[in-house]
Amino acid sequence: MSQGGVIDGLEFARAGATRAGALEITDLPRLSELGCSAAQIRYVIRGGDSAQGRPALHVDATGTVELACQRCLESVAVPVAVHSELELAASQEAIDVADDEIDRVLASRSMAVAALVEDEVILTLPMVPKHAQCPAGMEDTDSGGERTSPFAALAVLRTGRTKS
Ligand SMILES: [Zn+2]
Repeated sequence: MSQGGVIDGLEFARAGATRAGALEITDLPRLSELGCSAAQIRYVIRGGDSAQGRPALHVDATGTVELACQRCLESVAVPVAVHSELELAASQEAIDVADDEIDRVLASRSMAVAALVEDEVILTLPMVPKHAQCPAGMEDTDSGGERTSPFAALAVLRTGRTKS
């Protein structure tokens, strides 16, 4: 069982419950898939009402994730700061037809906390993670704009991961 456990979404919101904890990369399989090599994330999930007065989960998460720099391919620590309000939707259809700016998540009686936090973290990650300044000695190959395609970079990430 992963860190964080599960919550009954609507019950959690109704009760105004709170759950806090910490997650590491082993708790975050999709981040790992994205080439994230390490993560230290502290989160707080609070149940309550949305700005529209509907049951909602407030997700706050802070920490860092290690991604591969798309310039030098060394690890770069990317700060994470999530402050999300997720309205609990009764059905996937309600989410699909909604035509507004409200973030929604499908309510269920067993919502995995780690996956909930992971979703929000993934949404905040930069498309192209880079060092502000790559480590000394690394050749800067970025002088002519984006040299590597995302797919090539991904292939490198995969190789790098199996190596360790
Ligand atoms: Zn770099």
